[in-house]
Amino acid sequence: MSKKIVVAIDGYSSCGKSTMAKELARTSGYIYVDTGAMYRAVSLYCIENGLMTDTKIDAETLEKQMSDIHISFQTNSSGKTEVFLNGENVESKIRTLIVANGASRVSALGFVRKELVRQQQLMGQQKGIVMDGRDIGTVVFPDAELKLFLTASPEIRAQRRYDEMKAKGENISYEDVLANVIERDDRDVNRAESPLRKADDAIELDNSNITQEEQRNILKTLFEEKLL
Ligand code: C5P
Repeated sequence: MSKKIVVAIDGYSSCGKSTMAKELARTSGYIYVDTGAMYRAVSLYCIENGLMTDTKIDAETLEKQMSDIHISFQTNSSGKTEVFLNGENVESKIRTLIVANGASRVSALGFVRKELVRQQQLMGQQKGIVMDGRDIGTVVFPDAELKLFLTASPEIRAQRRYDEMKAKGENISYEDVLANVIERDDRDVNRAESPLRKADDAIELDNSNITQEEQRNILKTLFEEKLL
């Protein structure tokens, strides 16, 4: 049997981690796990169950209800992986700015991270997995064979996210998206629990000025080198 590895892709919000990770998973036959979607699902759960307001999270109740939150992934007929929360397909519901903002708040809670990290580690036990997030190379799989740390300027990331949301018909402004990107970066980098940082052995890639094609080729080469 051919060698299987773990690929960890971390980095700031909206810098193309998932595009890169999905593509590598598709071409290599690996499983793709979007860990951000898991934090988004917890955020959605909090919003729908009245556990989160603009200023406060009812962490005590959330901690008690963590075992009632079941997150899973399923591949749809077009090959796209979608996230389910307690049996409901929430793929489109979790992609709003409100849910994203809530995700960056719930992800600062230690008990939320502990549970989601436990589930992520189980998913990667057999290797052959590409996982993207903020703490994959540092906490979830510190021994991952290939670690990437993606960066791009906040303005470029906001523009890409804005174009994506506009294409889906969302009524948002570029300024709101930029503010959301900056606010989430700040929380991710400055939180006490598993803050976003580059693992010492991760390869940093700033994709502000490279094409998706160039990025794809860089990743392909790095991946193939690890399989030798
Ligand atoms: O990657 P995405 O933007 O979907 O993630 C949503 C939020 O979840 C991020 O802003 C980040 O705060 C949090 N997150 C995290 N750790 C991960 C993945 C996401 O803290 N591994």
